[in-house]
Amino acid sequence: MVKIAKILFPVAVPEPFDYLIPEGMRLSAGDFVYAPLGTQGKLGVVWGFGEREDTGKLKLVLEHKPTRPLNPEMLKFVNFTAQYNCTLQGLVLRMVLRSHKALEPSPDVTLYKPPKNLVGERPTGLSAARRRVLDVTDIWPARAGEVAKAAAVSSSVLGAMAKAGLLERFTAPLDPPFGTPNPDYEGRDFELTQKQIAAGEELQALVRQKSFTVALLDGVTGSGKTEVYLEAAAQALRSGGQVLILVPEIALTQAGLKRFTERFGVEPAQWHSAMGDAARRRVWREVHNGRARLVVGARSALYLPFADLGLIVVDEEHDGSYKQDEGVIYNARDMAVVRGKLAGAAVVLASATPSLESLTNARSGRYHHVILPERPGAATMPDVALVDLKDHKPDAGRFLSGPVIDGVTEALSRGEQAMLYLNRRGYAPLIICRACGERLKSPDTDSWLVQHKRTGRAICHHTGYSMPMPSACPECKTEGALTPVGPGVERVAEEAAALFPDARIEILSSDTAGNPERIRERMAAMASGEIDIMVGTQMVVKGHNFPHLTFVGVVDGDLSLGGGDLRAGERTYQTLVQVAGRAGRADKPGRALIQTHMPDHEALVALAAGDRAGFISAELEMREILGLPPYGKLAAIIISAPDAAKATEFARKVLNKAPRAEGIEILGPSEAPITILRGRHRRRLLIKAEPNVNLSAYMRSWKSRVRAPHKIKFAIDIDPQGFM
Ligand code: ADP
Repeated sequence: MVKIAKILFPVAVPEPFDYLIPEGMRLSAGDFVYAPLGTQGKLGVVWGFGEREDTGKLKLVLEHKPTRPLNPEMLKFVNFTAQYNCTLQGLVLRMVLRSHKALEPSPDVTLYKPPKNLVGERPTGLSAARRRVLDVTDIWPARAGEVAKAAAVSSSVLGAMAKAGLLERFTAPLDPPFGTPNPDYEGRDFELTQKQIAAGEELQALVRQKSFTVALLDGVTGSGKTEVYLEAAAQALRSGGQVLILVPEIALTQAGLKRFTERFGVEPAQWHSAMGDAARRRVWREVHNGRARLVVGARSALYLPFADLGLIVVDEEHDGSYKQDEGVIYNARDMAVVRGKLAGAAVVLASATPSLESLTNARSGRYHHVILPERPGAATMPDVALVDLKDHKPDAGRFLSGPVIDGVTEALSRGEQAMLYLNRRGYAPLIICRACGERLKSPDTDSWLVQHKRTGRAICHHTGYSMPMPSACPECKTEGALTPVGPGVERVAEEAAALFPDARIEILSSDTAGNPERIRERMAAMASGEIDIMVGTQMVVKGHNFPHLTFVGVVDGDLSLGGGDLRAGERTYQTLVQVAGRAGRADKPGRALIQTHMPDHEALVALAAGDRAGFISAELEMREILGLPPYGKLAAIIISAPDAAKATEFARKVLNKAPRAEGIEILGPSEAPITILRGRHRRRLLIKAEPNVNLSAYMRSWKSRVRAPHKIKFAIDIDPQGFM
């Protein structure tokens, strides 16, 4: 028998491959190695060891990389993620290993700073250019190129100054380490309330146990959940652990980050999708070697290689953006709990509108339930009411009802701000020809084109396909007959501008503020009162604080109700509570009005009455009757093919391969709600399982019986959230 190494590569492979270990090479699980894969030497990770008799065809490991290995806990986490979500181990490892260069130590760079005796001093007779250089380097030591640019001098000036003793040259790592957060810094300018202190202490006690626990931090919007979980973070830092705070991507704003900085005295390491490679490398390396103590990141930060994780916080745990829908399909909130378990760390799930799954776990005692029932100080909960659109019909071609217009008017007259919420980008969700009735449709996807006035284009929101807005109907060629139908944020903003000509109105959607920098900047403008009326999509919903915002108008409270989505009620309720919760966060009372055609809908009635408990029990009752989560488990299979008949045929074949098992019900195959996406025809199967069934194992065994032919795609979604 020969000892072999099992090596997993970050590519689409289901499991590790076997390799021979060269003489004298000492390997441990988690080590990084290069080994031949196909015709190349590729970076992989030693996943374990085994023994084999026939080693004839095995190749040798090429090189052992002398870097810190991945933790055993990380290997387990990759395995679990792959198993649970029925995906390939290699693809999960790829989420962990973003860049090879992160495994190398940071390269050194040369920096310039003034010598000590010159800090703040300016010798006489200095040229203007040299003076500018000292002004720049006084503030921060920097690389030659940066200094030259900031001081508008050529780099040769720096060399000459160094020679003359006016500057010092020194080397430092290109990626500087992150500052060490100080748990006792406490730079915020207010005191925590008694209730906040008590909640913070509850969480701290859990963190001090230094073992796996989950707490649901359940507090109304604006109750100070962030401040409270930062107390837990302080405790974890004091105990020497690393802290990961997951937030919805959009919440990674400057204002949001500022609170971490105020609490701990240094900026946390950040992780999000818009980061460049260099920044990613820096964070990865510093997290891996344990020096980055506090990381605030979007969902994928969960797959960073923490050396010693003490606490994971999932802020806005109900948020749909924790679900990754493409590639490796997983829910970061659920995986965070697993990661915490493997790391022996505390997990805090925070929300004003917890998911029914988390609430059920809290009620059954599996999770600790920490409650913040009120806003601090003078801040009160907004007053929420419904506007029945039957009684308050907006004018033809208009979308704001009288009561909402009055609400905005009042807020503006008091010098306060208003927000109009509509989760629809663009100008109009539908473009119809008045002459022939044609609706503009996406060429390769089953969806209507959305009119965007700002860019003058018609856009498919599912694929991003876009074309210039035609002047004539593509079908009957009539000029000027294409008409926008229904409102998008651009149209609501247009209406608001006509009603409030003096107001500073701004639209906030992914079209107007696509990148995080710009979002941060516009959020800051809103917070500081530079905007009077903000018209926004769901982008405005998440975790932002606008102290002067006192009125929120929800243009279409029905938007996601109706349809066949089983989570529609829950999601609508959560979104509207969050939107309404933007109002009245400081000492001014806030008000929210929700326009609706369904004033009797359970979710909306409960919302207006502030009756969360009522809403939850009605919703849970419905789920229990239908055997849906948390009373049962769900999975989906999505099949897609370029050809409709082939998609249907293969979907039937997949159904025939379903293993027989107790407690499983299979619905479909049926057409997926978006039947054609990017030219691919989509079919769906929905699998319902009783709570005691190991649904992942069932789906894996099903998957193993299916072989997708060329050009047909087959994906499993465990616990699907949406139904696209
Ligand atoms: P949540 O996350 O529960 O919505 P936040 O933590 O964002 O609430 O807090 C809402 C706002 O109230 C923030 O601007 C925060 O700085 C402020 N705040 C929180 N606690 C206090 C307090 N004890 N005194 C004054 N302001 C507070």
